[in-house]
Amino acid sequence: MQLSKPGYYADFVVYPLLIFGLLAYQLAEARTWRPFGFLLLCLLGFAAWTFFEYLLHRYVLHRVPILHDMHEAHHADPSAFVGTPSWASFLMFSVGALLPLSFIIGFSYASPVTIGLMLGYLCYVVVHHVTHHWRVTPDSPLYRFKHRHARHHYAKIPGNFGVTTLFWDEVFGTSLEAGSRDRRPNLMRGLDRFFK
Ligand SMILES: [Zn+2]
Ligand SMILES: [Zn+2]
Repeated sequence: MQLSKPGYYADFVVYPLLIFGLLAYQLAEARTWRPFGFLLLCLLGFAAWTFFEYLLHRYVLHRVPILHDMHEAHHADPSAFVGTPSWASFLMFSVGALLPLSFIIGFSYASPVTIGLMLGYLCYVVVHHVTHHWRVTPDSPLYRFKHRHARHHYAKIPGNFGVTTLFWDEVFGTSLEAGSRDRRPNLMRGLDRFFK
């Protein structure tokens, strides 16, 4: 949806604070600290985010009626301050992830998974901002992100729904990168049927 300038940039402040806050709480409260397990759960959360990012963009922002119209405002004017308000994404991570996960696996496991999810979201917000607001030259590592997201906006067929990674587009056959469909193993082609 259309946001004010401070509303648009709020994620860049809110999410580093939430991530560090949760990390500090975990460090202060944990009776035994297992860095390897913590890192593994963070990575799991991060990987899960990339999948949610793909599903949310492809099926929610491009198909669910009212949300589709809001996302269309971004497609119509990619450099406008259009995005998800921080309170809405915060609800998604707190009520939608941390709370239910804490009930199921306990807070000490739910917290690193949620940190990973929020880190993934922060990466998504930063990469998406860069692709639309920064001038990026072809020798920059960010050029690849900008180029493939530009294809999502301007190609005639829908695709490249992933912003932080093209992995799920490759898996579900929506990558718009040259030759990607021919390179895909049979298993990936099979998965397409479930995600049409
Ligand atoms: Zn889109
Ligand atoms: Zn965009």
